[in-house]
Amino acid sequence: MADSARPAGVAPKVVVRPAAIRENAAAIRSRFDGRLVGVTKGACGDPAVAGAMLSGGVAGIADSRTRNLERIRDRFDAETTQLVGPMPDAADRVVATADRSLNTEPTVIAELGAAARRRDRIHDVVLMVDVGDRREGVLPEDLASVFRAALDCEGVRVAGVGANLGCFGGVLPTADRIETFVDAVERAEAEVGERFDVVSGGSTVTLPLVEAGTLPDRVNELRVGEAILLGTDVARDRTIPYLRGDAFELRAAVVECKRKPSTPEGERGRTPDGERPTFEDRGRRERALLALGEQDAVLSELDPVADGIRVLGGSSDHTVLDVTDADREVEIGDVVGFRPGYRALVRAFTSEYVGREVEGATDDEGEGPNGADRDVGGSAGDLSP
Ligand SMILES: *Cc1c(COP(=O)(O)O)cnc(C)c1O
Repeated sequence: MADSARPAGVAPKVVVRPAAIRENAAAIRSRFDGRLVGVTKGACGDPAVAGAMLSGGVAGIADSRTRNLERIRDRFDAETTQLVGPMPDAADRVVATADRSLNTEPTVIAELGAAARRRDRIHDVVLMVDVGDRREGVLPEDLASVFRAALDCEGVRVAGVGANLGCFGGVLPTADRIETFVDAVERAEAEVGERFDVVSGGSTVTLPLVEAGTLPDRVNELRVGEAILLGTDVARDRTIPYLRGDAFELRAAVVECKRKPSTPEGERGRTPDGERPTFEDRGRRERALLALGEQDAVLSELDPVADGIRVLGGSSDHTVLDVTDADREVEIGDVVGFRPGYRALVRAFTSEYVGREVEGATDDEGEGPNGADRDVGGSAGDLSP
């Protein structure tokens, strides 16, 4: 199969399919009667990803890094939200870049207000409440006092209130968690005598409530990343049936093909990741080695696109495949494609060694994840349809 136009030694790359991202955003939008904010942090704020979300109808883009939002701001006239509470000394940059930020600390809100006043702007803050997951957020009983402090802060406007679930404690947004959230919101409103316009009720994990029609009306915004990017919901271990799972494909070239015994031979210690893996003796098998490793992806999260290929594991710079049952013979220089999981996607986008190619893009949009020139030449082989 070494007949096509692919050069040998192709560097690993992520192929982005904007059409899939756009369709996923539109599919969620059509089910949710509120603001859908697209979260790009899983793809390092990639402008092609942000652009596809926006053309799918999201109301704005959110990312955890100011640097990612800066690239988005440069190209799109869209609302931007900083997801991770800014460090106080970063307030000026956040105010310059983001229209909104999620916040929990009155001192940080004060810094944002001061930075906004210096720039003669108003910065929108969304106050986060911890309703059980125990990552960011003020406890429900403290919401009113933080709300008051934010209202008193010149330069900021309280745009709304939000909650995040499923990220640290793995807590799901069940009816009782959402009720806890809405109760906290309404109690703080009653105490302070002001209303939150935006009630931002979660992320991908909240979608089942949207599907079931059980999300309270007060929740009028969702911030969704994983579902739009990958069509999955890791917290519930599900593939979302109305979404596409082919928005990203990680590709790498085969650098060795050999028939080898399926078990190691010799006295064994630990592997570099501290494990003592066990191996099933399946006799001699066809192995293929890829120039792609843990530094570029989370290998256990790679799902081969072609049938009959198994990821056996790897090391920081190699991936070992069993290709005995592949549809056709695998050769040196072939390109193998994978659907990455969320962590694998993040790592591929942050790895300096992984290029990026946007399907159907002009040269200008096809640059590397950090704006650097990357060797992303070559089209995929037959193993990567
Ligand atoms: C990452 C993040 C999201 C998006 O989460 P997904 O699971 O990718 O949908 C939403 N809100 C906050 C605060 C986040 O950090």
